[in-house]
Amino acid sequence: MTRTGVGYDLHRLAEGRKLIIGGIELPFEKGPVGHSDGDVLSHCICDALLGAGGLGDIGSHFPDTDPEWKGVSSLIFLEHTRKLLNARGLFIVYVDAVVVTEKPKLGPHFPAMRAALARALGIPLERINLKAKTNEGVDAIGRGEALAAYAVATIGEAIKPAANARERIRQIEKKAQRKLRSSSRPRKRP
Ligand SMILES: [Zn+2]
Repeated sequence: MTRTGVGYDLHRLAEGRKLIIGGIELPFEKGPVGHSDGDVLSHCICDALLGAGGLGDIGSHFPDTDPEWKGVSSLIFLEHTRKLLNARGLFIVYVDAVVVTEKPKLGPHFPAMRAALARALGIPLERINLKAKTNEGVDAIGRGEALAAYAVATIGEAIKPAANARERIRQIEKKAQRKLRSSSRPRKRP
């Protein structure tokens, strides 16, 4: 079975902050305000994955009140999320995301972002699709005061060896019982 999760994130932009999207630093005069590196793309992918896994949201796993997460690369959140999923027999199938920002142009940076995200998620980069949109000059994003991102993640449930083993044991026991029944039938005396 596959499961799907959705993620959304928005950060205000301020001067004097590094602009990091998808684990890659882009040359720009503004950057996101946030407790970690404010990586809007990594955050929304993280939320999508946690949602698909039924594991709540990014805030409950990496609270912004925790000094441990201050200024860290958000790729660490993705690595940690992948481990949380894998520990439950869940694996990442596909991630699709869209980043909404007026400036700068993101397309040229997508190959590097996909490579960084794929590394953190432990999947081939063909399983990550990125898209860019502007907000047509409208609203806070259009005015360059904020940037946002949306993601949808698909994850799969691994066939647990324990469940498989249980079924095998059941079949072996059934066979043994049939044998036992047939051997315990009273035999005709010769
Ligand atoms: Zn965020």
